Amino acid sequence: MSIFQGPVFEMARTQFTTIADYLGIEESERDRLLLPKRAIAISCPIHLDDGRTAVFQGYRVQHHLTLGPTKGGTRFAASVDMGEVAALAIWMSWKCALAGLPYGGAKGGISVDPVSLSPRELEALSRRYMQELIPFVGPHVDVMAPDMGTNEQVMAWFMDTYSMYQGRTVNEIVTGKPVQSGGTEGRREATGLGVMHLAFSAMQELSIEPTKATAIIQGFGNVGSIAGIELARRGVRVIGVSDHSACFFDVKGLDVEAMTRHVEARGSLRGFPAEEFEPGDLLTQPCDILVPAAMERVIDAAKATKLRCRILAEGANGPTTPEADKLLEERGSDIFVIPDILCNSGGVIVSYFEWVQDLQQFFWGYNEVVSRLNQILDRSFQAMVERSRRDRISHRTSAMSIGVDRVRLAKQKRGLFP
Ligand code: GLU
Repeated sequence: MSIFQGPVFEMARTQFTTIADYLGIEESERDRLLLPKRAIAISCPIHLDDGRTAVFQGYRVQHHLTLGPTKGGTRFAASVDMGEVAALAIWMSWKCALAGLPYGGAKGGISVDPVSLSPRELEALSRRYMQELIPFVGPHVDVMAPDMGTNEQVMAWFMDTYSMYQGRTVNEIVTGKPVQSGGTEGRREATGLGVMHLAFSAMQELSIEPTKATAIIQGFGNVGSIAGIELARRGVRVIGVSDHSACFFDVKGLDVEAMTRHVEARGSLRGFPAEEFEPGDLLTQPCDILVPAAMERVIDAAKATKLRCRILAEGANGPTTPEADKLLEERGSDIFVIPDILCNSGGVIVSYFEWVQDLQQFFWGYNEVVSRLNQILDRSFQAMVERSRRDRISHRTSAMSIGVDRVRLAKQKRGLFP
């Protein structure tokens, strides 16, 4: 029985089968491309504030080592298990390859609700997680970054823990660090900036005037909040916003900057003074740009038939199930999908810039970071649109095929050892 189980892993497998069929990849080659190279499970014991000891289950999956080190975030969430982390690692591989980065995919995480821990407990758990993984990571082996439930502070603790064991500062061991500790300008905003930039590219394709456009955003973490702010700053009316605690909808527009200040002060959107809305109905309200920026699998078959957006900008990883994808394809081209591995790739692209700057100890300014980010996003967007038109395939199949093809060709050229 495989250790990779569960609905999220099955989703990654189903998507891969679609791509492998389209690319004509032989059965014998498929497992080599899909199955993760390494999967590590660790137990992380920490002292709780009340004197007891608690043990948390942690994971790290490194998908392939063909193009360079593996790269990907660390997720602290109750849902985390080996199957979910493996699927997310596989998606990181296609994402990095589509962007042309010299990385394989990875993902890690701890099965924990971080909000249930005190700041001291969170620091202890973060440090113990990194310490347990020291034999398996390294600046040229596997480079971590933030994901759901982690942030710049957690990355600073990871970097410090690794550095203490090496006896010197090793900035390049993780990305997404604070700018003060070897991070890069623009990394914190990068994923949201990328979502906005690509939504604008899609609006241009569809001849939608941004100042007349509306957006709905599900999830108000680092991705959703920055995407919302950046869209609003450029004249898009953000009419719906939700997080795990509250949901708001107002056709006249919501004050996203005020919402961000509220979350900074209170930890969530709960209590924000605006019209509350039924969260189950948010995704299906009419709008120009729909940005799912929370969990996997929120757009299932039932939701897919009811979507009333013109652009689906997938800020989250894996928000759309393969069943929903099929239905979206059957609807024809009435929804312009910007698939996750392109839409949220701004984060890992700027992580790559951070890693390069750390290795060279030569730092760039914000404008340089953003202009290089936009260049890569534009190149990937064009490649995706062109292949999709040429072969009459969906944007997701097109984007994933570009990624899978690059990994496959690199494996073929290198050959199989021994
Ligand atoms: N966790 C982010 C993602 O899913 C960023 C990964 C990284 O920067 O390495 O793409």
